[in-house]
Amino acid sequence: MTEPGDTEVFKCPHCGNETVNVLISFTAVDEMLELVDSRTHEIDNFLVESYFFITKCKTCNQVSVFTSADFDEMPYNLSSSFQIWPKNKVLGDGVPKSIEDRYDEANKVKKVSPLAFSILIRRCLEQLCKDKGATGKNLKEKIEDLGKKKIIPETLADMADIIRETGNTGAHGDKFKLNKFDMDVLDDFFIAVIEYVYVAPQRLVKIKDRLKKALQ
Ligand SMILES: [Zn+2]
Repeated sequence: MTEPGDTEVFKCPHCGNETVNVLISFTAVDEMLELVDSRTHEIDNFLVESYFFITKCKTCNQVSVFTSADFDEMPYNLSSSFQIWPKNKVLGDGVPKSIEDRYDEANKVKKVSPLAFSILIRRCLEQLCKDKGATGKNLKEKIEDLGKKKIIPETLADMADIIRETGNTGAHGDKFKLNKFDMDVLDDFFIAVIEYVYVAPQRLVKIKDRLKKALQ
């Protein structure tokens, strides 16, 4: 996918559909990278070519921007390139598929319905509690249980509880209207919980492992 008009099927970050995306524009930029050798402390300079792709989804007509560098494999696979726009978050490694699927559903409606988003992001939280074996009569108690079992610290439990509460309020009344910024807050809170529970522990294992091997 390097010529305008080229197409590729991948999951659109806007509408979440596995669909045809058309390359609108492609450009390459030279960049000088400075790498320091950790053992000798010598500095090496590399000229790296970075690529930027603008694509348009055939289903929702929204535009996305991706980047990759010349040390990436050819041919470019946009779905594995780094997404610059839209800035919606992608759940990292180690997150159970059941949660990832629900989060995708929530993201699909984010632009069109704050109410639906608040209810669906609350469901993601319910799934996390289930996955972590949290006990309690309702979601409030289950979140407290996550805190008691030290699966999440107090601040994250408070953040999770806000997701629970706004999802409830949305479902049972119209006194509190969520706006775009509220949705971003809920999204950020959810990602923070996910990072703490799933992503960071996995990253920690990986980097510890690499350090151990390097020092052997
Ligand atoms: Zn789309």
